[in-house]
Amino acid sequence: MAKKITDRSEDYSQWYQDVIREAKLADHSPVRGCMVIRPNGYALWENMKEALDGMFKETGHENAYFPLFIPKSFLSKEAQHVEGFAKECAVVTHSRLKSVDDGVEVDPDSRLEEELIVRPTSETIIWDAYRNWIQSYRDLPILINQWANVVRWEMRTRLFLRTMEFLWQEGHTAHATKEEAVEETERMLEVYRTFAEEYMAMPVKTGVKTESERFAGAVETYCIETLLQDNKALQAGTSHFLGQNFAKAFDVKFQSSEGSHEYVWATSWGVSTRLVGGLIMTHSDDQGLVIPPRLAPTQVVIVPIWKSDEQQENVLEYCDTIIEELKELDIRVKLDDRENYNPGWKFAEHEASGIPLRIAVGPRDLENHNVELARRDTLEKNIVDRDGLGERIEKTLKQIQIDLYDSAKKRIDENTHTVDSYEEFKEVIDEKGGFIYAHWDGSSETEEKIKDETKATIRCIPLNEGEEGKCMVTGKPSRQKVLFARSY
Ligand code: AMP
Repeated sequence: MAKKITDRSEDYSQWYQDVIREAKLADHSPVRGCMVIRPNGYALWENMKEALDGMFKETGHENAYFPLFIPKSFLSKEAQHVEGFAKECAVVTHSRLKSVDDGVEVDPDSRLEEELIVRPTSETIIWDAYRNWIQSYRDLPILINQWANVVRWEMRTRLFLRTMEFLWQEGHTAHATKEEAVEETERMLEVYRTFAEEYMAMPVKTGVKTESERFAGAVETYCIETLLQDNKALQAGTSHFLGQNFAKAFDVKFQSSEGSHEYVWATSWGVSTRLVGGLIMTHSDDQGLVIPPRLAPTQVVIVPIWKSDEQQENVLEYCDTIIEELKELDIRVKLDDRENYNPGWKFAEHEASGIPLRIAVGPRDLENHNVELARRDTLEKNIVDRDGLGERIEKTLKQIQIDLYDSAKKRIDENTHTVDSYEEFKEVIDEKGGFIYAHWDGSSETEEKIKDETKATIRCIPLNEGEEGKCMVTGKPSRQKVLFARSY
């Protein structure tokens, strides 16, 4: 049988597509750049959502929902915001189709008086609402999150990593002081870092973006950045300090406790279905998807093996006791007793779909009071005692979570370099790729030159300032080393 998944070393991009197809995560849609998220992919997103939602609520946020459509005029109220998003907006101009001989066409009589934007992000519609909600300091802070879809007319798309329509959450908060808003921005960056590392087992670097990479309308964009297996970086999440930009654009003022009228301070922060792509490219291998146990929709799959009817009955009974034991421990377990597929086929399918642990049970295991336990991450198989199986699995799942993080961390550490000269920088970026720390003079011109010449961008300026030095390109003073990489 031909191998269904291309090896990473052969064609990384094809490998990524193959993993998604074989794990049944998503399909391309008839519309370029959009995707159909299949149940396996959606279950993964749902688990991410659930964990993040819990963390948002623990930090005091509530969920709400704002409309998909935004009046076109709203977008132009914040100058930088419109400049950043203008080229990526889907615009609704008409409201009707009419039948013609060979199908339907847009009814020219249904032209909208004010055209509508399909939200690329919701600052404008939300700050328009906040104007009515905020009068005094007593109305602050507002700590709101929404789970939604957004549309950005992206030119170069890739399943999960960059799509035209994507699912995400966007937090939008309003504060009385600058300090509070900055604190919130940093708090949510920390939530994202914790989620990436503790749930996704995906190590990240944190820092702030340079002016040219900043969110359109933000004063400061904080981000988490990871390095994928092909040594390209991925911006996995962003938390923006918006200053008073949106409050000024939408005239949102509050009366302070001293009686003065002041503009409100804002933040926004988001992560998207891009995280699913990041997860795939962090852990998966040439056999297919690998999912960290904390996010795996199914953590353990049991494959019963039998020949005779009598064996079937006994094996399934034995499996039932295992399922009961695992459910008792809150382990997400599934029995694959489909009769129209043989065990080998099922093994390959579960491997491709990344279920962390597989138990196989045959008649001989009943006799010996055993099961066969296989780890997806290491592909290691062991015959283990039926007694104490639940505890053993619980421990193994925890171990897999740790091992996945450790091996991703090791890979990223090994591919993080520090250079002193531009020569060395070019050599490393061409020959090895990965993260590179280097001195930069802080100017957009130098940043642009580096990008033009090497395709590497500044992923972030680390928050813990390092030692001063000289820019690797211009020799001008540099306050600290910044993090470069080629990126998705
Ligand atoms: P932003 O509002 O631009 O800061 O984006 C918030 C987060 O959404 C980013 O950190 C990305 O992870 C993600 N994101 C941005 N654009 C896309 C896209 N086209 N497809 C999927 N995720 C995206």
